[in-house]
Amino acid sequence: MKKRSLLLIAVMVVSLLAACSQQTQQPQVDNSEKNTEVTTDVLVIGGGGAGMVSGITAAENGSKVIIVEKMPMLGGNTIISATGITASDTDLHEKAGIPFTVEDHIKKTMETGKNLPDEKLVRILAENSNDAYEWLVSMGLSYKLDEKEPWWIIPVEGHYGRQLFNAFNTKVEELGDKIEIKLDTKATELIVEEGNVVGAKVADKEGKEFVIKANSVVIATGGFGNAPELIGEYNKNYVGAHNIMSTAGSTGDGFKMAVAVGAGTRDMEHHQMRPLATPGYWIRETVINEEGLGGILVNTSAVRFTNETLKPLELVPQILKQTDRIAYVVFDSEMAATKNGTSAIKNGNMIEAATIEELAGKLGLDSAKLMETVNSYNEGIDEFGRSTMGKVTVGPFYGVKVAPSSHYTMAGITINENAQVTNESGEAIPGLYAAGEVVGGLYGAGRIAGNNTLDDIVFGKIAGKNASVK
Ligand code: ADP
Repeated sequence: MKKRSLLLIAVMVVSLLAACSQQTQQPQVDNSEKNTEVTTDVLVIGGGGAGMVSGITAAENGSKVIIVEKMPMLGGNTIISATGITASDTDLHEKAGIPFTVEDHIKKTMETGKNLPDEKLVRILAENSNDAYEWLVSMGLSYKLDEKEPWWIIPVEGHYGRQLFNAFNTKVEELGDKIEIKLDTKATELIVEEGNVVGAKVADKEGKEFVIKANSVVIATGGFGNAPELIGEYNKNYVGAHNIMSTAGSTGDGFKMAVAVGAGTRDMEHHQMRPLATPGYWIRETVINEEGLGGILVNTSAVRFTNETLKPLELVPQILKQTDRIAYVVFDSEMAATKNGTSAIKNGNMIEAATIEELAGKLGLDSAKLMETVNSYNEGIDEFGRSTMGKVTVGPFYGVKVAPSSHYTMAGITINENAQVTNESGEAIPGLYAAGEVVGGLYGAGRIAGNNTLDDIVFGKIAGKNASVK
């Protein structure tokens, strides 16, 4: 996610901490009778990464800003982002003597997206990545290059999402009454007058509705990872997808509100999915497809049902067709010794057992059936066309339930270079801006990790600045 590989418990703790600190720092608006209509310069919908950057930028540009966040805490999916950002031509690259230029960045992004991304937007993303990185450094974050993937800038220590929100909270405090955050406040509909977006209808925790009028509105509501019905609507392979990697607020509200006022959409069938997700973690597919070593997938009847070496996105529908739309990853101690095997055991909370029978018992599977499945796999019997058969022979053995889940919404509404939301003909919808995961056009059919946390900053700043122009 984003390499959203943080354990769920840590996520909840972080989110709660953020919520607590936010609730003490931010003056809450009195939602009593008199507030049936509130007026501001810029209304930002969503208090994740893109919303915070848009709001801060608009306030720094002299606007009075209201950010509405429907959850009781800020953060969205951004706060569970455990690693960092992608950036090109930084001082870190220069010092390390490892070039990763803006052109390299554009090329990598376009190739990963199978050339579907809007290259104009990708260029803006890459060209502004160093500024985004330096902005983060100026707020006290401290980064190094990732050893394996040097385009990836990761915190020297600590958790990226938490550091980011600490920095945002400090900025918000500095901006004083220029920026107001309303938690537990959900935008339900955009208000359009004479073709201009002039605010939104919102509802507080009790469901009491009021109107926030604004010169401009920034949609920063994130993706729809927690709206499986939307994911399945646009890609039949993903019907029945699980949502265990997404935070609760990612239900596609902003996407729907923008489409309702004429926003264009793009790349709608492309949703980043992880076939082997466990709560808060996605197990790397190498644990079931590494040549000569690979483990297996079984269903609730303890039988194999697919060629485990299919591409990850092809595995998703195979698993979703099984009972309860889940499967079990099973591997042995040889796989456990690999990097991804070790990580899966630790972060995916895999269950260990001395024998296959014992593992079956602990997983709630039929012992005799699992034994039979593993034995025939070890004999090289395969009806699914798997060519790189390994073995599952050396105990201890490991297993865990996995559920294909949304990781990132690559699809979304269309924007132009000014972060203005555009209609199907590419014309800007006056008064309406967007940034972050709600936007389509930066990823196409694939996303490199860290570009999304970068795009929150780059397009959040563009949206915030342009939205604050009167
Ligand atoms: P991004 O990376 O694009 O900022 P996030 O998932 O981090 O995306 O943040 C999106 C935020 O928007 C979440 O905190 C989510 O709860 C919030 N949100 C989603 N829909 C609404 C809505 N209708 N009204 C207010 N906030 C919303």
